Amino acid sequence: MTTPPLPADMTTPVYNRVALIGLGLIASSMFWAMKRAGLAGEVTGFARSAETRDTARRIGLCDRVCDSAAEAVEGADLVVLCVPVGAMGAVAAEIAPALMPGATVSDVGSVKGQVIESVAPHIPDGVHFVPSHPLAGTEHSGPESGFAELFDNRWCLLVPVEGSDPDAVARLRALWEGMGAHVDEMDADHHDLVLAVTSHAPHLIAYTMVGVADDLRRVTDSEVIKYSAAGFRDFTRIAASDPTMWRDVFLSNKDATLEILGRFTEELFALQRAIRTGDGDHLHAYFTRTRAIRRGIIQAGQDTAAPDFGRGPKK
Ligand code: NAP
Repeated sequence: MTTPPLPADMTTPVYNRVALIGLGLIASSMFWAMKRAGLAGEVTGFARSAETRDTARRIGLCDRVCDSAAEAVEGADLVVLCVPVGAMGAVAAEIAPALMPGATVSDVGSVKGQVIESVAPHIPDGVHFVPSHPLAGTEHSGPESGFAELFDNRWCLLVPVEGSDPDAVARLRALWEGMGAHVDEMDADHHDLVLAVTSHAPHLIAYTMVGVADDLRRVTDSEVIKYSAAGFRDFTRIAASDPTMWRDVFLSNKDATLEILGRFTEELFALQRAIRTGDGDHLHAYFTRTRAIRRGIIQAGQDTAAPDFGRGPKK
């Protein structure tokens, strides 16, 4: 994957001070990506645990790590909530009194409808709220897992709420583009449905498959691990994702995920029937259709054709 050229005007910061609340994979990647391109005058950070704050200070994550969320957001013209979806509302309530008039609050949550519902009521008059979601991640979490290239050539979806200030949206777009992402705008319902198909349901299926294999492992000793083939290994990588984050994703994107899982179950039954009845034509036609989807993803630059999906060892 190549690093996209930075926009010509990236010598001046997009924001004077950015506050990152929550210092895990996404926040730390944002910090390194902002530093790489000089997108923020100063970046402050806060995490709830002293351990994470200490780690952040030790590795130079953020220009200033604060001991309270209120201190971190003071004077910030952009505040980004980088905590699990289920914690967004409480964090927004905590920082609200300390927000600077004219500031923008954003978030990076994987679900948008529920986050907007829980955060928007706490946003004071005169402060802009522009939710976002970078479609980029790994199965790793915590302050040491981030890297500057995470968003390169990935999509970041902006989900402006009713009455979102166009200038605030444009500025946030410039930040994400400066961090290497392609930016699109979408409404919250559409976002949550698209993500249920492309991310949430696949994660649930991976969790299930690994759970099934684990049950089987008890029967066949360690053969499931020993002879683990590429398909299963990919499932285990996805199923190693952060349990808190994914619990919150499913609880907060309930309707769309259940809708997609219902369709999934119907298709699975149809394939099951084709196997039982020996309907090879059905199976072949189905797999031909799905193979074309994989080619489309590679052509769109969203993955590589390499056998390890281009993920290789981290530099
Ligand atoms: P992460 O690495 O697990 O970090 C989460 C951060 O949130 C940590 O600093 C943690 O603090 C803090 N936190 C956890 N629970 C909290 C609570 N109840 N109240 C306040 N703070 C809390 O997570 P991440 O992967 O960066 O994910 C952050 C957000 O980005 C989530 O909303 C997720 O849906 C979204 N997202 C994730 C991915 C992905 O692939 N990982 C991709 C796109 C978007 P401590 O360290 O002090 O515990």
